[in-house]
Amino acid sequence: MSLHPLEGHQEARTAVAGAIARNRLPQALLLHGPPGIGKQRFALWVAQLLLCTESTADGPCGTCRDCRMALRVEHPDLHWYMPLRKPPSKGSRERDDEALEDARTARIEELRTKPLQPSHSDEPLGIHLGTARNLRRRASTGPAMARRQVFLIANAEELVAQDASPEAANALLKLLEEPPESTWFLLTSAEPGRLLATIRSRASSLHLSGLPEEQVARFVMERTDADEAEARKAARLASGAIGRALGFLPDGEDDGPLEELRKESFRLIRDALSPRSGDRFARALSYRPSGARGLRELLTAMEVWLRDLSAAASAPDAVLNHDAADWLVRSARERNLHPVELARGLDLVQEARAQAAGNVNPQLLLAGLLMGLHRTLVSDRSASHTPVGTP
Ligand SMILES: [Zn+2]
Repeated sequence: MSLHPLEGHQEARTAVAGAIARNRLPQALLLHGPPGIGKQRFALWVAQLLLCTESTADGPCGTCRDCRMALRVEHPDLHWYMPLRKPPSKGSRERDDEALEDARTARIEELRTKPLQPSHSDEPLGIHLGTARNLRRRASTGPAMARRQVFLIANAEELVAQDASPEAANALLKLLEEPPESTWFLLTSAEPGRLLATIRSRASSLHLSGLPEEQVARFVMERTDADEAEARKAARLASGAIGRALGFLPDGEDDGPLEELRKESFRLIRDALSPRSGDRFARALSYRPSGARGLRELLTAMEVWLRDLSAAASAPDAVLNHDAADWLVRSARERNLHPVELARGLDLVQEARAQAAGNVNPQLLLAGLLMGLHRTLVSDRSASHTPVGTP
């Protein structure tokens, strides 16, 4: 099994290939941009380019031994780290670190056999202290086969949110500050604002953008079983992110994970607009009282609905949720929704997302958010629109 070819990101490719050709690529690079747009795939391409023995100004040759091994994610000097669920403790630090390394190996094996996976996770994952220790040990040994070694650290913001200890971050910081010779670190993050400032300041940033909708649709049609209608719908909802488009495709008989979230977030928005406050409380109470971090993607999905309501009010062609276009236009018209209030609503959702990263009660978080949205979008407005003197 080999990785699919890198799609899009032509400008960034040219910039990186040029820098490598001039021997000027910073040893710590932070690739950031929206979720699912292929940051890890791009980083793997950069890694392949750094390892390739026949590279050109266009990129890696694709055929030398290093390229072939990199494309199978089997190159001994390509080290891919990603957030993982923490394995149960084995009783000693050494054995815990080994368990984390085993979990990482298993995850890479999974990605080798099924490289096209939706960018989505429904459980809190972290880059744990033991992983940072393993990485540091590995980095100190130097390249095994090629003239360079490359460490890909995916979703690097997850390094800070776990273990309640700055040690994991510090172990990595030291490496980024003085990278060992012939060693490159490629960090990816969809939320660079959540990275430690010290990490952010040590890495050179490269922004990656989404792909054109048409390109995402074509990719999905060529590389998955989806038919054209499914591919186009997924590409529309994915806003230029192949990894997100994959999550909107059916998963066997079931909805894909992002399609499920889309439907669930629709119910939340509908309840926020409902005249019955009981709907909001019942909805909030239907969630578990712990695990707010799991809500982050749901809240992102709510933002899309609010943007769509805003589009429905002003430019219905821009609506992403095509299948709900009628409902969106009708709701926007009936409630006289205005882009200014909807923008305030978006702020509320973003605040809730920030809170969800901490240890808050999801029921309280959602109840507060739904009430806040109702107040902003419906009740405050009808009050302020009531002529003075009316009872
Ligand atoms: Zn090559």
